[in-house]
Amino acid sequence: MKEAPRAGVSAAWQALAVETTARTQIKDITRDVARLVAQSGVENGLCHLYVPHTTAGILVNESDDPDVARDIGDVLDRLVPRDAGYKHYEGNADSHVKSALIGVSETVPIEGGKLGLGRWQGIFFCEFDGPRRREVKVRIVGD
Ligand code: ZN
Repeated sequence: MKEAPRAGVSAAWQALAVETTARTQIKDITRDVARLVAQSGVENGLCHLYVPHTTAGILVNESDDPDVARDIGDVLDRLVPRDAGYKHYEGNADSHVKSALIGVSETVPIEGGKLGLGRWQGIFFCEFDGPRRREVKVRIVGD
């Protein structure tokens, strides 16, 4: 069995690959993150998640009903239309704005060797300029 990290010591940042299949997609990655936490051997601590992209984000919200994630994506698309007279030359200003609204980092507690999410919570990668191959940087830190 893998040796548990010492207190205050964590493994390096790990890259979690995420494949998206639509221009806007709020994708549940809870299981992938939970697997990394289990592999780390950390019993109590923090799981830091960072998205190194300018047209994507990360979000904690309801995972019980997958329609909630679809609704969030639909609302963001209505709130920030694809064409609205933006100045950005690349043609994906709406994707950058959605990333700015959602944010690119989350921290989730680790309790008893598991993600300390609420009963209905999950972790979502938010794609706003897909489909693409993306990554989430994950760092697991033990107390
Ligand atoms: Zn751009």
